[in-house]
Amino acid sequence: MKKIALVTGGTRGIGGGIARRLKEAGYLVAANYHKDATGAEKFHAETAIPVFPWDVSNYESCARGIKDVCEMLGGSIDILVNNAGITKDCMLHKMEPESWQQVLDTNLTSIFNMCRLVIGPMREKKFGRIVNMSSINGVKGQIGQSNYSAAKAGVIGFTKALALESASKGITVNAIAPGYISTDMTDAIREDVREKIVAGIPLGRFGKIDEIAQAVLYLVNEEASYVTGITLNINGGQYL
Ligand code: NDP
Repeated sequence: MKKIALVTGGTRGIGGGIARRLKEAGYLVAANYHKDATGAEKFHAETAIPVFPWDVSNYESCARGIKDVCEMLGGSIDILVNNAGITKDCMLHKMEPESWQQVLDTNLTSIFNMCRLVIGPMREKKFGRIVNMSSINGVKGQIGQSNYSAAKAGVIGFTKALALESASKGITVNAIAPGYISTDMTDAIREDVREKIVAGIPLGRFGKIDEIAQAVLYLVNEEASYVTGITLNINGGQYL
């Protein structure tokens, strides 16, 4: 039986790359997205991966979405990649409470929502693979990202705790902390700021989407059963 994999924010950027690789590797894949229906339809046309809109920051919305995925793919989720995320950068002295809340809800509460809803069936099956997307800026902090850094640091703590809770049930829970990867999110960075960032990366470039997708493939593999609770830094050699 093919294993069922769900990728949130899985129709473009890093998530899109992960979903494509999982499908190539033989998993039954579903991709969630939020608002970009045109992009999602294009992704579906290219990959034949079914796409499902819901808001990962909302628990009821996640419950409905997961139910739809399970009905369409004919089973419970074996592999969950919590990839969806947003930034709303601003210095703290100017940050509105909404920016704080939206970033926390979308990057961190989403992971509670999604894991809470899939963990029961995984425990019953005594198998599961969860990969949570953190960030280099959750590990080291970043100017203008007190909201994002807090959320992504929270992802690491959550991952360690759930890994401990789930170890005896055949479920692994790991995080990936990418450095700067070329996607829509980083395309928004100003050219002069980008040059400064690249100058600080020992490998001298932004990472590629596939360099994250390949790591996810490894972590979700059945043979990676002794790897849990880690945060894999994939950042071109930046010292943390
Ligand atoms: P993109 O901005 O390219 O894509 C984000 C994806 O998340 C989109 O599919 C978007 O859906 C989805 N999404 C956003 N909000 C929600 C929501 N509320 N509910 C459901 N889906 C949502 O991001 P990246 O590919 O660059 O980043 C992917 C992950 O990797 C994020 O968690 C990010 O924080 C993390 N990361 C990225 C880095 C980078 O350099 N790019 C570096 C470190 C970490 P829609 O298409 O509908 O808008």
